[in-house]
Amino acid sequence: MSPPPPANGSQQGGSNNNADRPREPIVSPYMPKYPDPMSNISNFKIIESTLREGEQFANAFFDTEKKIEIAKALDEIGVDYLELTSPAASEQSLNDCKAISNLGLKAKILTHVRCHMNDAKLAIDTGVDGLDVVIGTSSYLREFSHGKDMDYITDKAIEVISYIKDQGLEVRFSTEDSFRSDLVDLLSIYKAVDKIGVNRVGIADTVGCANPRQVYELVRTLRSVVSCDIECHFHNDTGCAIANAYAALEAGATHIDTSVLGIGERNGITPLGGLLARMYAADKEYVLNKYNLPKIRDVENIVADAVEVTVPFNNYITGYCAFTHKAGIHAKAILNNPSTYEILKPEDFGMSRYVSIGHRLTGWNAVKNRIEQLQLTDLKDEDAKIVTQKIKELADIRPLSLDDVDTMLHHYHSAKNEGAHKHFLDNIGTPDQIAEMMKTTAIQ
Ligand SMILES: [Zn+2]
Repeated sequence: MSPPPPANGSQQGGSNNNADRPREPIVSPYMPKYPDPMSNISNFKIIESTLREGEQFANAFFDTEKKIEIAKALDEIGVDYLELTSPAASEQSLNDCKAISNLGLKAKILTHVRCHMNDAKLAIDTGVDGLDVVIGTSSYLREFSHGKDMDYITDKAIEVISYIKDQGLEVRFSTEDSFRSDLVDLLSIYKAVDKIGVNRVGIADTVGCANPRQVYELVRTLRSVVSCDIECHFHNDTGCAIANAYAALEAGATHIDTSVLGIGERNGITPLGGLLARMYAADKEYVLNKYNLPKIRDVENIVADAVEVTVPFNNYITGYCAFTHKAGIHAKAILNNPSTYEILKPEDFGMSRYVSIGHRLTGWNAVKNRIEQLQLTDLKDEDAKIVTQKIKELADIRPLSLDDVDTMLHHYHSAKNEGAHKHFLDNIGTPDQIAEMMKTTAIQ
């Protein structure tokens, strides 16, 4: 065993070759030692599709005013693109495309169209910045949906893409149900459209069947075949939508589709908040510098309200318990250094940490911290320990609210000044007695 290198690098210990090497900061033993040049973990773009994929959510109906409100809220977060429902879908969809394109947002505006000349022409006239063209290539879609063969699909794609490019717009070409399409078919059509200068090719896991390893392999293979950008779209039927997005970026994808709260067809796609949480954990600086994270909660509330759902209790970042710490051991460590049990810093997302103390798993360090917050400076560690024992005893009957705990601490503090604190605790047998104390305190 060689001795550990000196603490401050190469200045000392010239006889040791290791000492001459620059020291690398150790972030995690699981992080790759050297950056992967193919990975776009630190350089990705978000295509926010709440106003397209999200409109396919069972409960979704957005009128023009609501679409504009959502578009502006997403623009404030700093998403790179907004994708809108095809103007070919309905008269109102056409007008909404025009209205949102005219808002002058920082985000580029895209609309999602079938690989048809008529759809493309209609979309170009709305003033959008780019078109996301899509066609199904899986054997299921070819047999049971549009019934076209690969030669037809390739010719059509080249015709439509060339036309859009000639009009000076950005264009993406995506297949649908890519993971159940023939790999040779897929790669040949992507190669063909890359050759004529498409801006992006898209992979879509339309049925949510892919897993991260399959995603990594397909994107890596595609990366070696095309030179354009690669966009990925993942459905969440089996819970892999965020992990698949991450694997895609690691393999060289450049753009990820999201929607607010993940809403979309069936149970939806990669959620915007969840993706940002994942990417923050991977490259905090990139995410913090590029996106306005405290705005995530606002847009989630707007969308949840509009589609009549509640934000799930276990939602990334904004779920009501996302930053609540309960077990005594966790609470103690969190109070010493939050990073011990937090990979996401709540304040970076405009959220606050909460240490839950009124339950039987509580610990005296958390109670002591509450004593300090209440500025009951006469109370010592010994007092915190005695009160904690009482909380545990009472919380075996039912959990105490923070108000219950505060009332008990205030009364204990007053009783201590009179030397009656032990007697005070002995006289409390049930949590309801604290509730009674709160009533009398309120009357006084
Ligand atoms: Zn979709």
